[in-house]
Amino acid sequence: MSARETVRPLPAAVEAVETQLSRVPRHPHAWLWWVAASQLAVMAIWLAWGWRAGLPALLVSHAFVLVPVFQPCSRVYAPVLARLPSSGRRVWLTIDDGPSDDTMAILDLLDRHAAKATFFLVGERAQARPGLVAAIVRRGHGIGNHSHTHPQAWFWALGPKRMRDEVLRAQQALTALCGQPPRWFRSVVGMTNPFVAAPLRTAGLTRVAWSARGYDAVRADPAQVVALIERDLAPGAIVLLHEGAPHGRSVEMIGLLLQRLDALDFASVLPEELMAAPVAHDGSAAGAKEPVRSAALVDER
Ligand SMILES: [Zn+2]
Repeated sequence: MSARETVRPLPAAVEAVETQLSRVPRHPHAWLWWVAASQLAVMAIWLAWGWRAGLPALLVSHAFVLVPVFQPCSRVYAPVLARLPSSGRRVWLTIDDGPSDDTMAILDLLDRHAAKATFFLVGERAQARPGLVAAIVRRGHGIGNHSHTHPQAWFWALGPKRMRDEVLRAQQALTALCGQPPRWFRSVVGMTNPFVAAPLRTAGLTRVAWSARGYDAVRADPAQVVALIERDLAPGAIVLLHEGAPHGRSVEMIGLLLQRLDALDFASVLPEELMAAPVAHDGSAAGAKEPVRSAALVDER
C-alpha cells in the first residue's frame, strides 16, 4: 500500500457485493407457471394444427423442462452463483464431498499456500467426523451444504419431500457442528430439479455452480486435471474440486493446482472476504493476493 492510500470501508460497495453474491430463491415455484403456460401453448398448437405440429411441440416443451435439470448453471429452477463479482486475480476454491480421509492433508496444503477454500460437506459424513469439520472452521475456511446423504444417482429425480429432507437435514447438522448456518449450497453432481429452490429459500441458501473444473473426481492424472482447470481460470472463477475421490489422488491434484495458482498470481479467497474488501473505485481488486486486509483501498488523490 502506498503512502497516498488509506484503508477505508466502503459500505455501499460492500452492499453491492453482498447483493451480487446472494442468490437465495425468491419465487421457488415460478417454474410452475412456465410449465402450465407451455402446456397450454402445446394444447393450442395441437388443436389448431393437429398432431403433426402438436406432438413435436409437446416433446420440445418436455425437453425444456428436463434439460435445465442437468445444466449446473441453468437458472430455470433456482438462481445460481457461477462466478464471483471480482475484477482482481482472485478465485474461489470449492471442495465437494467431504469430510474425508483427505481433509487434514488438504488443510495443510491450503495453509502452506495461504489459500482459503469452501468445503461443501455431506451432512451425514460431517456428523460422522466432527473433528474434521471443527478443523476446517478453526483454520478459517468456509463450509457449504452438499446434501445430507449425497444421493448421486437419483438427486436429479428426488421429489419435494426427499429433496427438502436432503437440504434441511444437512443444514441442521452443519449448523450444529459449525455454530452457524452455511449460506452456500452445491447440488449433487450439479443437478437441480424443480424441488430444490423451496428448501433453499427456507434455509436462506444460495446455490453455487462453478466456472472452472478439471473432472478431478473421475480423471486420475493431476497434470491433466490442473491443465483443464487452468484453461478456465479467470478473475472471479469458481473452481470445482473434490476430496476423497476413488482414484486417491485428490490431495496431489489440489497441491498442484495451488502451485499453479501461485505461479499465475491468483489468490484463493472466500466470497465472504470480497464483502470485507470489495473492488476499489479504480476497478482494481483491493487486497487481491492479500485477503487478510479487511477494507478497500482508496486512493486519496
Ligand atoms: Zn458431490
